[in-house]
Amino acid sequence: MRPFWENKKLTEMTPEEWESLCDGCGRCCLKKFEDARTREVVYTDVACRLLDCERCRCTSYADRAKLVPDCVVLDPEQLDRLQWLPSTCAYRRLADGKPLEWWHPLVSGDPRTVQQAGISIRGRALSEASVTPREIEERVIRWVKPARKGRARKTGR
Ligand code: SF4
Ligand code: SF4
Repeated sequence: MRPFWENKKLTEMTPEEWESLCDGCGRCCLKKFEDARTREVVYTDVACRLLDCERCRCTSYADRAKLVPDCVVLDPEQLDRLQWLPSTCAYRRLADGKPLEWWHPLVSGDPRTVQQAGISIRGRALSEASVTPREIEERVIRWVKPARKGRARKTGR
C-alpha cells in the first residue's frame, strides 16, 4: 500500500500526517531578503530568535504567530502563495507534485538523515539574538534556495 503522502492530497491529511511532513530542517526559520526589483529571495544563515539552532525546533511553537508576527503558519490552502519556501521543503515539494527525497525521515525512517544529507541547519546557523540587523544583511548564503521567486517571510508549520 502506498504511504499517505503519495496517496492523499495535502488538504486530505490529518493534523498528525501534516505535522509529520516537516523534516525539522529549520531552513524556513532563517532570515531572508527579497530583491524588490527581481523578487529573488535570498536566505541568510541567521535564524529567528525563537529557533533552537541545535535542535532545529521552535521554542514557542504554540505561540509562534503571536510572538513573531511575520511567522506564517503553514496550511495546505495557502502553499501556492509560498514560493519562497526552500526547494527541499516537504510541503513545497508535495504541493509541486514532487516526491519526498531519500533523506526525509518518513522515507529513511531515521531523522538523522536530514543532517547527514546536509539539509538541516544544525551547526550551520546562528540566532538573530546574537547579531545586529546590519550583520544579518552581510550573512547571505547560497546553500538554501527558495522553490521559486516570491515574498520573503518567516514560517512555521
Ligand atoms: S523548511 Fe519545511 S520541512 Fe524544513 S522545517 Fe520548514 S516547514 Fe519543516
Ligand atoms: S516557527 Fe516561526 S516563530 Fe518559530 S522559530 Fe520558526 S520562524 Fe520563528
